Amino acid sequence: MSKIKVMSEILANKIAAGEVVEKCASIVKELCENSIDANSSNIIVNLVEGGKKKIEVIDDGMGMNKDDALLSFQRHATSKLYKEDDLFFINTLGFRGEAIPSIASVSKFVLKTSDGTEGCQIIYEGGKLISNESSDLRCGTSITITKLFYNTPARLKYLKSEQTELANCVSFIERLALAYPNISFTLTNDEHLVVKTSGSNDLLKTIHEIYGLNVSSKMILVKSSNDDFDLEGYICKPEILKSNRNHMITIVNDRVVKNFEINKAINDAYYTYKPDIKFPIVVLKINTDPTLIDVNIHPTKQDIKIGKMDVLSNLIIKTLKDALYKNLLIPNALKDNEEIIEKPKIINDIVKEQTVNYNNEPVNVQTEFNLKEESEDTVIVNPKMKELVLYPVGLAHGTYIIAENEEGVYLIDQHAAQERVNYERNMKALKSAKTYTTGLLIPITIELSSSEMAKVKEEEAKLKELGFDFEEFGLNTLIFKGHPTWLRSGYEEESIRKIIDLITSGLKSVDPVKFNESIAITLACKMSIKANMHISKDAMEELLKELCACDNPYNCPHGRPTIIKFSNYDLERMFKRVMN
Ligand code: ZN
Ligand code: ZN
Repeated sequence: MSKIKVMSEILANKIAAGEVVEKCASIVKELCENSIDANSSNIIVNLVEGGKKKIEVIDDGMGMNKDDALLSFQRHATSKLYKEDDLFFINTLGFRGEAIPSIASVSKFVLKTSDGTEGCQIIYEGGKLISNESSDLRCGTSITITKLFYNTPARLKYLKSEQTELANCVSFIERLALAYPNISFTLTNDEHLVVKTSGSNDLLKTIHEIYGLNVSSKMILVKSSNDDFDLEGYICKPEILKSNRNHMITIVNDRVVKNFEINKAINDAYYTYKPDIKFPIVVLKINTDPTLIDVNIHPTKQDIKIGKMDVLSNLIIKTLKDALYKNLLIPNALKDNEEIIEKPKIINDIVKEQTVNYNNEPVNVQTEFNLKEESEDTVIVNPKMKELVLYPVGLAHGTYIIAENEEGVYLIDQHAAQERVNYERNMKALKSAKTYTTGLLIPITIELSSSEMAKVKEEEAKLKELGFDFEEFGLNTLIFKGHPTWLRSGYEEESIRKIIDLITSGLKSVDPVKFNESIAITLACKMSIKANMHISKDAMEELLKELCACDNPYNCPHGRPTIIKFSNYDLERMFKRVMN
């Protein structure tokens, strides 16, 4: 090869490196995917300073012979075999020959590999071959990368802090471990163990190894399929939630993907089971015909486009909702098990967010949900909940109902509980085809600003459809002569005002489902007993009965819990009547 040819090849690799390699995690990703392709059972990733000083990936895969090892440093060495389109068809992850020369062009790259019959060690630096020697016959490949970006100072500057680079690598390895529970992954940083999975091929066990017992004991198995898609995985009970979306992990045809629409479907399934600003832990494997998948929309191929997305969304929402519905979701006051196997401390340091037990009332309702009406049609029964009977004992702080049954003692937030009951009742009323209007003996007049008036006129038909009877009454004033029957008496004016607020504020008018949801939630809150109101025991009994009959009795429509349980066992443990 002429000198010029070699130089242009190095340049091309450096440019390609800019696309493939932007952070330590992308190197870890390329190398681990090669290891998976090589049928490895154990993959060990050792980092120094989050990968900035050193990245080492060791596998026990099939390895390479000398010729293939040398060839792997040639750009497009295998591009004849693999077109990007083919990725999902040939069921492999990456494409050897792209990543290695790119990474080797911006680092010191040591490749040691053997297929069991011959072994070699090849060293590249800055894209140039430094040495090529024979080595031992341990089957597998180990790659060591140091001096990353030493010859591209501009890129070096783009590397983030050690903590950030490490956190990205951890998050990637965790996802990979969940996608491949049959492979054992080990990740260390500065010789401290950060992630270790056993490769047991048991997804729940892998979840346990990554998230610990507190999470794995609160996961629900989901499984379903239709003509186009097979779903299988685990979803968390709403009592453990995260403050970001990173723990909704989806694996499509054995590939970890990030897809906005899939995440949205998962989130929609948890509608009113959680606050909008919290997100569930979900590991969902989706298998489908490769022809329904287009991988070309993102250069790092993490995102994909799915044909028949509507079908998949509906299947996800229905499957997850069913699973949430069929499980008893009353959170225990105590952690189920105190001797939780602690994760290595470093992870807690890196992952600076905590599992949340609903501490904060969400800021606003209805930010991104779009309920699918179809999924509401199916009548599902939750016999366990319907059988639950709670006997009121008293009221604490005018706020919490104390109740009991043979299993334990319960605290119920009376406002949240009644909000749930009213919400489900409102939704039913809003969905029923027939609207009933109650006439007002004394009509209510409501004054509006001129912009509010314009908006109300725009939505007049919708308001009438809901059961409102009103007309204009002078300048910017409406007179209401009737309202939907389900409005709580004594609260008519406030409720009408609330609905007008909803119409005139940011709410997008187009979607009637969303509009009804907002009305149901807002009025449910309005109609419900506030804290510090002392209700009679009969009223408590009635409320508990109504709560247990709800479709989702565990959360108020804002996603806060309605009920917390102290099992008899918890109580005995707290009072040291039992010592274990
Ligand atoms: Zn409320
Ligand atoms: Zn609420």
